[in-house]
Amino acid sequence: MENIFLEDFTPDKPYWWEFFQPRDDLRADLPLHTDVAIIGGGYTGLTAAHVLAESGIDVTVIEAQEFGFGASTRNGGGVGGAVNVGKSLSGRRLQYRTGEREAILAESAQAFRSIENLVETGNIACDWQSNGRFIGAWTPKHFRDQEASLPLMNEHADLGAEMLPRERQREHLQTDLYHGGMLVKRSATVNPSLLYKGLLERSMASGARLCGRTRVTGLARSGSRWELSTDRGVLKADKVIVAANGYIDPAVPMLRKKIIPVFSNIIVTEELPDGLASHLFPTNRYVNDTLRIRSYYRLTPDGKRVLFGGRGRFSTASAIDHARSLYPMMVQRLPDLKGIRIAYAWSGRIAFTLDSVPHVGEQDGVHFALGCNGSGVAMMTYLGDYLGKKIAGKANYVSRFERPLPGHPLYGGNPWFLPLIGRYFQFLDRLGR
Ligand SMILES: Cc1cc2nc3c(=O)[nH]c(=O)nc-3n(C[C@H](O)[C@H](O)[C@H](O)COP(=O)(O)OP(=O)(O)OC[C@H]3O[C@@H](n4cnc5c(N)ncnc54)[C@H](O)[C@@H]3O)c2cc1C
Repeated sequence: MENIFLEDFTPDKPYWWEFFQPRDDLRADLPLHTDVAIIGGGYTGLTAAHVLAESGIDVTVIEAQEFGFGASTRNGGGVGGAVNVGKSLSGRRLQYRTGEREAILAESAQAFRSIENLVETGNIACDWQSNGRFIGAWTPKHFRDQEASLPLMNEHADLGAEMLPRERQREHLQTDLYHGGMLVKRSATVNPSLLYKGLLERSMASGARLCGRTRVTGLARSGSRWELSTDRGVLKADKVIVAANGYIDPAVPMLRKKIIPVFSNIIVTEELPDGLASHLFPTNRYVNDTLRIRSYYRLTPDGKRVLFGGRGRFSTASAIDHARSLYPMMVQRLPDLKGIRIAYAWSGRIAFTLDSVPHVGEQDGVHFALGCNGSGVAMMTYLGDYLGKKIAGKANYVSRFERPLPGHPLYGGNPWFLPLIGRYFQFLDRLGR
């Protein structure tokens, strides 16, 4: 295989870390007691912490690594306003009570408005670009399904979407791979690590205590309080929020067995020759497709590189091996990228739930906001904010995402079956063509 890597390629370093490096200096002393302890310092934990601290509640965010280590600085930076309401992870059609599906979509549109508003009013400099999205249909049937869902999506999720037939596809993306697709107006892109930086600074300004490089290793009831064991000592808390998403570990076994952590891999190219970026993405939209194993891609905010994400390999592999698998997928979609080299490659963990919908709520007395299902930039900041308000007594409605996390009697938290399911889904995707 030709050399697809740039000379100074460093594996495992997210491109976004050129703009914000995870902070290892935020390591406040662990107090003996706090009102609310939050496990996980990503978008979810920080938004919840901000609301609580602003309400005068003593809040401690405990982060196992440096602040900014998790998915919140590793993602593709696509900001969407609709969650999945179609099928569960196993492909079963999801069942709803009358009006429930519409209400879920309406609230996901609210999540989009809320992050849009947060970025604007909070003056968070994160390269927010409201360019919209193109969702490429992998098969003619997917195109028809997208078309059939259009009225629901526009009326309730406020997507401002329209169908783009295959013959007009190149107006938005230089590819012939898709059978047309859906053009979504209400969708944006950000630099995710700069968004993270803004949320981190906001939570610090509001007085949240940030205990980085501190891992929670156990959680137990102690009278009316919680006792959190950590590798830096014990902390007592009146309330606990689990905001660990795809990085959830055995410290919280009752929630871990409801979450399926899945690696997603990203590559970023070297700077493209003059004119190529605008030729490939004439309207600079974020792109994803309708495969079971999805790809997502976009231009970087400076418009000079392509970021391409998806699933490289299903077995444990190095960033280099994942990049080698992603590269041909990228070139299959955008053949003009053949010969362009990779400058960055990294991975991160996405949390899937069995019903493919994000959840917020309380289980066995522990609060949680978990299960981004790959669209957490808007959803997890929204659910973190909601949870913070709820605990502070300031939420004036009950979220549609507030419901028990579904589990499966045969799943205890170790997703050993993922390589098998992944290859099976890939097979179905090929068959679908
Ligand atoms: C490669 C990739 C691409 C993605 N692309 C997109 C996209 O384009 N658009 C979109 O909307 N979403 C995307 N997502 C999803 C999005 O990034 C996540 O939904 C979001 O960042 C989740 O935020 P969070 O705060 O819940 O979790 P995270 O940011 O993952 O933070 C969780 C933190 O919990 C900490 N933790 C775990 N266990 C413990 C413990 N025991 N003690 C202390 N700390 C602990 C971890 O160290 C971690 O830092 C993507 C995700 C990945 C990985």
